[in-house]
Amino acid sequence: MSYQKLSLPLSLGTSRKRNWLWIWCGVGVLLLAVIAFVVFHGEEDLNVVTGRALDMETFGAQEWPENIPLSRQTLESDDVSKSPDMPDSESEPVDDLFLIRGRVTRNQTLFVALKNHGLDIDDVQQVLASLEGVVDFKKSRPGDRYEVHLDVDRRILKFVYESSPEDISVSVREGNVFVGQKVVILREVVQKRLSGVVTDTLYQAFVNLGESGELASHFMQLFKYDMDFSTGTQRGDEFTMLVEKVYLNGQFYKYGRVWAATYETVSGRRLEAYYFDAPEEDYKGYYDDEGRALKRTFLKTPVVGCPLTSPYNLKRMHPILKRVRPHYGMDWACPTGTPIMSFGDGTVTFADWKGGNGNLLVIEHPNGYTSLYAHLYAFGRGIKKGVRVRQGQVVGLVGNTGISTGPHLHFGLKLHGKYIDPSSVDTRRAYTLSGSRLSAFHSSRDKIRRSLWETGGSGSALVSK
Ligand SMILES: [Zn+2]
Repeated sequence: MSYQKLSLPLSLGTSRKRNWLWIWCGVGVLLLAVIAFVVFHGEEDLNVVTGRALDMETFGAQEWPENIPLSRQTLESDDVSKSPDMPDSESEPVDDLFLIRGRVTRNQTLFVALKNHGLDIDDVQQVLASLEGVVDFKKSRPGDRYEVHLDVDRRILKFVYESSPEDISVSVREGNVFVGQKVVILREVVQKRLSGVVTDTLYQAFVNLGESGELASHFMQLFKYDMDFSTGTQRGDEFTMLVEKVYLNGQFYKYGRVWAATYETVSGRRLEAYYFDAPEEDYKGYYDDEGRALKRTFLKTPVVGCPLTSPYNLKRMHPILKRVRPHYGMDWACPTGTPIMSFGDGTVTFADWKGGNGNLLVIEHPNGYTSLYAHLYAFGRGIKKGVRVRQGQVVGLVGNTGISTGPHLHFGLKLHGKYIDPSSVDTRRAYTLSGSRLSAFHSSRDKIRRSLWETGGSGSALVSK
């Protein structure tokens, strides 16, 4: 493998000794500038330099997979992947003689922030101009870090802008101009195989391996429907995991995707999880060795806290029509306005008025399932045909529209176009791969198994301990 060398030093925080060097350089530059001024007077306006972006090396980085059954809040804050080894101490705001360190705040442009530090406006303008095309300051977010290195006269020598540890740009004074560019960061993704034995807790076992507790939590999340790790673990249980670790310039930065995990209890129970990177979004996720989804793909019920007033019943006497008419669904009596949650991930195929159903919502799920919600008071925000929804997302409100004796949700479920009893569905095993998808999964699983069992390690010097 060949990597580009660092084009600029990354170290934040310059030593005082170096500043003396800069002072001498400054004196030299000043002398040259005086000469240049005399000789080239009139050409100073040509000093605007456009920045050039250097390509950063990336190696197919992947974040935590989305379909881990974490709570919505956890899903939205992706902090679990942040490395505990990256202390934030360097980000303390500083404003001293030679160094300013700060963060972008809401309601203040970077220009104003720098100006408020008492910096020369011409310098600031030149620095920002030199980074045009390198940093998209319009996309600056509160919390982005910046650092300004100064000389004794508080002139800018170097400006560093960090959107993330993977995205750092720098503008350096070269004589009388500033040259801006991206800092080339060597990014490596290494697959690491972990294996251990539980002696105390699984959490402790991960820590003993030199990994973070977050990774242990992630492991437990994978099997949360199969195992209660707070009570179910025993001394001597064994586990393995194949996980990507992301390194920036040789330093651990964060965890990437977990490709596999296994857990075997002393009593012989074996749990396996393999990530299937399916071509279709709906099928990406974790499966056991036979292609059964690990995630509980359907909710127990689309409404909570409402009594079941009419189950699925093929011989029901209809309350309004007064004749035997199959009830192809379940009814729950809920107050008008009760939120209705999508039974599973899927795509809205119908959201409109439909005769006796009143406002009807139909959602298509993977593996041939379709869920139907009738008599709605209203549809959820943004819910219309073609919209993708996630399991548990509020897709509508209970109502009393169409032929209905009172506010309730009529909920139907179809499998391959035929009504089935929603209560008969094994919500745990609803998503089992079959056909060509299952064969694709099997070959993916076998490949993962080979890395899991045959390499016996990471295969990279970066993580040899
Ligand atoms: Zn009904």
